[in-house]
Amino acid sequence: MRSTVLLVEDERKLRDLVRSYLERAGFEVLSAASGAEAISLASSADPDLIVLDLGLPDVAGESVAREFLVAGATPILILSGKCAEADRIAGLELGADDYVTKPFSLRELVLRVQAILRRRGPANGCGVNRFGAGMLVIDEPGRQALVRGTIVDLTPTEWGILTALAAAPGRVYSRREMINRVRAYEFDGYERTIDTHVKNLRRKVEQNPRKPTTIQTVHGGGYRLGITRDA
Ligand code: CA
Repeated sequence: MRSTVLLVEDERKLRDLVRSYLERAGFEVLSAASGAEAISLASSADPDLIVLDLGLPDVAGESVAREFLVAGATPILILSGKCAEADRIAGLELGADDYVTKPFSLRELVLRVQAILRRRGPANGCGVNRFGAGMLVIDEPGRQALVRGTIVDLTPTEWGILTALAAAPGRVYSRREMINRVRAYEFDGYERTIDTHVKNLRRKVEQNPRKPTTIQTVHGGGYRLGITRDA
């Protein structure tokens, strides 16, 4: 099945160019020229990935990104004219999966889109995902997690952290990014508070919380899910 990419870019020439490149790479492409159009398209078409320009005419791309990220787990690749390191970090901390600065190579953009989708893996349709040879099972519709076959009692914030990490096993999430991802739940927003929640979460999911393998700390980076999704 072909993956659908929603391309949000107000410059027509660039939009047409990126669109034709993505189509040639086998993607189904929907395009939007404004934030408002993007939001309405994303809710009706449910794309697999969003390529989002931050410089839009109607609303800041940042707020469009936030809207998407709160709405669901659709991965976002940000296109930006801003090339400063600080802007790049800000883009990633918003919760975007990748960030490309203009001008960019179309070939590279396609490769990055493919990499994000590979990393995210295919959804199995029923919303139940298994990790680490069935060691961890996340039942999204049932809003419950099973560790080694037993349901674990998680707080809403712990659930938010676990599902955020599980959306992209192996990907490193900074503390700031995790706050943005779990914002839908009660959370005071302090970066170090994440550490306390992670500590509690580890007590519930790790075989040895002192030597965590499921929720790994990446020094200077943040956290990642250290086990892979079962096929
Ligand atoms: Ca623009």
